[in-house]
Amino acid sequence: MTKSVLALLLCLPPMALAGPHAIVIHGGAGTILRDHMSAEVEAEYRRTLTKAVTAGHQVLAGGGNSSDAVIQAVLILEDSPLFNAGRGAVFTNAGQVELDASIMRGDDLNAGAVTGVKRVRSPILLAEQVMLNSPHVMLMGSGAESFAAAQKLEMVDNDYFHTKRRRDQLQQAIAREQNVSIPVPNDAYEVRKFSTVGAVALDANGTIAAATSTGGMTNKRYGRIGDSPIIGAGTYADNSACGISATGHGEYFIRAAVAYDICARVKYQGIDLAAASEAVINGTLQAMGGSGGVIGIDPAGEVVYSFNTPGMYRASIDTSGQLDVRIFRER
Ligand code: ASP
Repeated sequence: MTKSVLALLLCLPPMALAGPHAIVIHGGAGTILRDHMSAEVEAEYRRTLTKAVTAGHQVLAGGGNSSDAVIQAVLILEDSPLFNAGRGAVFTNAGQVELDASIMRGDDLNAGAVTGVKRVRSPILLAEQVMLNSPHVMLMGSGAESFAAAQKLEMVDNDYFHTKRRRDQLQQAIAREQNVSIPVPNDAYEVRKFSTVGAVALDANGTIAAATSTGGMTNKRYGRIGDSPIIGAGTYADNSACGISATGHGEYFIRAAVAYDICARVKYQGIDLAAASEAVINGTLQAMGGSGGVIGIDPAGEVVYSFNTPGMYRASIDTSGQLDVRIFRER
């Protein structure tokens, strides 16, 4: 290279972001009833979804990678008591909170997951540490917490996660099991509701990442684990196909390998992500009796929401920078 060419290259402005970037998030799917939801509560959900998707998008717009983007979005949802992840997660039958999370990136198919953690403030940060700083993919319970402490992650008492609303939901669930009727609290705007959180992003380098964080299902027992921390069920990312984060009745999502099945259909059948998601969520899963939904992104940054429930808390910022925030099916 001649000196003049080199001088010219050095004078050029920094390269513009190479490819498109986009992000999509969810805060759970289920029977979310508009008639029972006050305007204030709806506004609060919309505000928090907007804050989370914007935080993730800022990472992408600044040239950051998709793993960091999905983590920033999920951190806000974990900290919000509105959603079933981190603070505000659902209770087990024993009156505790046990959290699961996972993250995967689509360039090298690296992944990290944790299940049954009770004292780690942010399970998604722990899943990230498993992905980055351990030779493993999935850690459980007290072992995962020892690893969290070794990684210097913030530890909290289990009470930190507790909210009155989720305790009321546990009491409702136990009463239903015993065929006893107890008064329904005023804030029961969600009937059958999965409020796991998740995010999927495509960064300017073409890397897709997906992350999911949850408390699982109300009244769970015996160390029950759902789909959210299972790579291929609740979370999957592959740059050659798509990224997916799921929410719904985990037992069905595990059996149908939902996240992987959607990406496999894109990859091997050559169909688009929207068609693949619909085939699994409103086809396979529905036929099995499973309810819930997914969010996803393809390598071009096309964003998809797909669910077979009346509503799903969801938001996205697409490749043109357009913000979209939705709760109910019809808008
Ligand atoms: N999928 C989660 C689980 O089964 C629940 C949810 O989506 O809220 O643990």
